[in-house]
Amino acid sequence: MPGEDLMRVQIEAAVIDSMVEHAQLEAPLECCGLLMGQAGRITHLRRMRNLAQSRVRYEMVPGELFRFFKGLRGSGLQHLGIYHSHPSSEPYPSATDISQAFYPDCVYVILSLLAPDSPSVRAFSIVEGVVAELAIQ
Ligand SMILES: [Zn+2]
Repeated sequence: MPGEDLMRVQIEAAVIDSMVEHAQLEAPLECCGLLMGQAGRITHLRRMRNLAQSRVRYEMVPGELFRFFKGLRGSGLQHLGIYHSHPSSEPYPSATDISQAFYPDCVYVILSLLAPDSPSVRAFSIVEGVVAELAIQ
């Protein structure tokens, strides 16, 4: 079966729902945000502003990122991932996404609204330009 040997990532259903809602709110622009949790299980998210205000790329606000990492210390949570939406394309990392994937330990979640009635969500690891899909549990 294809996908049988995929690495896995656990994401709570409420986090998935919130990411999808965020993507729908920002469409037709891309949304972006950060994922947190413990022991590889994603339980929290932080919606971020897309400084690029673009339909095809995202850029987080440096000051918000700085405050996020500052606030994370002592919260008991770890930064585990980054999510963004593709309002009108497949949920697969773009060339830009791959070249700007600076966190090899992060899960990159992409939400696609290509089919508006059935948003799709996929997760990837991106390490030194190599993309590997992760199964979402
Ligand atoms: Zn993208």
